[in-house]
Amino acid sequence: MNEVSGSDVLEAARRLEVCGLNRGAAGNVSARRGPAFLITPSGLEPAECTADDMVEVFSDGRSSGTRKPSSEWRIHRDIYAARTDADAIVHAHSPFATALACIGEYIPPFHYMIARFGGSTVRCARYATFGEQALSDAVLDALPGRCACLMANHGMLVFGRSVHHAVALALELETLCEQYWRALQVGTPKLLDDDEMERVLGKFAGYGQ
Ligand code: 13P
Ligand code: ZN
Repeated sequence: MNEVSGSDVLEAARRLEVCGLNRGAAGNVSARRGPAFLITPSGLEPAECTADDMVEVFSDGRSSGTRKPSSEWRIHRDIYAARTDADAIVHAHSPFATALACIGEYIPPFHYMIARFGGSTVRCARYATFGEQALSDAVLDALPGRCACLMANHGMLVFGRSVHHAVALALELETLCEQYWRALQVGTPKLLDDDEMERVLGKFAGYGQ
């Protein structure tokens, strides 16, 4: 497999903007590369970046390159350390996920696709200030058995096997958040029970190509 490059990470960050998941400098993207990871620079819009602006960060927090890494590099570092199933991470302030995250509650199994993220709910990480270790701790606490969470009063985070996979999952989560939000406008969503969610989780294990 080819090693991930700065242009892969930048392209993913640009796609998030094209898809309406991030605007301006909000959010960040990274990909695992050997013992380190490549991450978007802090406070720069993808449109004003080149591939060389992506920053390599090592597990001790050192970084190489001319730019400062995303202020959320600790979340990315801690997920790569804790989760061998994470090879790319997307953090977004997408409209519907962020609106629900401001309520501070988990997303229940109102739709079978919730199982796509590893269980019968998508949890909401407790609030902590952006860029602080406390926010990374909160996100890690919301991720056991899952590849996504909401972040209270902030946004959402997903991880996947590649930047392409992580962007696709971020789009799926934002779509589910929009559907849940819309369902709440017209009634009380009927939830799927544990048995059904177990069945769906089993089917996802062998789903697709
Ligand atoms: P960065 O530009 O430092 O990645 O910050 C954006 C963000 O979403 C902070 O949570
Ligand atoms: Zn953020």
